[in-house]
Amino acid sequence: MQIVGTIKEVRELVKSWKKAGETVALVPTMGYLHEGHGSLIEKAKKENDKVVVSIFVNPMQFGPNEDLASYPRDLEKDSAYCQSLGADLIFHPEPEEMYHEGFSSYVDMSVLTEELCGLSRPVHFRGVCTVVSKLFHIVQPDRAYFGEKDAQQLAIIKHMVDDLNIDVEVIGCPIVREDDGLAKSSRNTYLSPEERKAALILSKTIELGKKLVADGETDAEKLVQKMKENIETEPMARIDYVKAVNGLTMQQQKEVKAPMLVAMAVYIGKTRLIDNFILS
Ligand code: AMP
Repeated sequence: MQIVGTIKEVRELVKSWKKAGETVALVPTMGYLHEGHGSLIEKAKKENDKVVVSIFVNPMQFGPNEDLASYPRDLEKDSAYCQSLGADLIFHPEPEEMYHEGFSSYVDMSVLTEELCGLSRPVHFRGVCTVVSKLFHIVQPDRAYFGEKDAQQLAIIKHMVDDLNIDVEVIGCPIVREDDGLAKSSRNTYLSPEERKAALILSKTIELGKKLVADGETDAEKLVQKMKENIETEPMARIDYVKAVNGLTMQQQKEVKAPMLVAMAVYIGKTRLIDNFILS
């Protein structure tokens, strides 16, 4: 496995693989890898000859008061983990490599980005769409792997690829959880032991939501209300949003019917965590 920091090196390697008739997968990440990322890398390895993992904490997708500076980083551990999973290349650029002086082109999507996380993080999806389309142009993968943990992001990337005729197959992968249910996330590392316990309210509420749907709840507003009430039983939790939306358009939905995304963002102390379930 190689680790490279320049676009030129990635292009040369990928070109040589493609010349040899090999298929190439891309797994975009911000690093501090855990088994959630690992599941994407493993699936990519099964379905392709070569796997490129990008590790880039993208400044463009962080708002001014967000955790860009404190976002956890550990390239050495990440490299060993990628190697153990059979990844072929880590692309780990510096911000200056991705955004040269005078950079001024953006991928800016409307509608899907204006709901859920887009409401509380106004610049986030412009940064995500811009960096992912740059990574697609740099790596030119056959397939790219994204987690359903960030279900809105996954829907947005699929939509972007469709809108802009990008020749990449976007593949979604299920949420990987800790044994007690908490969705794995690099941000879980911010939680104190007490907050870590309180954070279970997210996955417990996802389970409650799934049960309410299985038991026949058809009113999306009632479903969301009951989920909110459950979160409010945890004193350390502060709701950013809980919403039931159409799984493709991200627009609010009155009725419980597929395709539907029920998504939440909840602060536990200062840490903002997300979780969701999908009716497909
Ligand atoms: P991040 O490093 O947080 O930007 O995540 C990189 C990719 O890994 C994204 O496509 C995420 O959706 C995915 N991912 C992160 N956590 C999980 C998880 N617990 N289960 C599945 N995929 C995940």
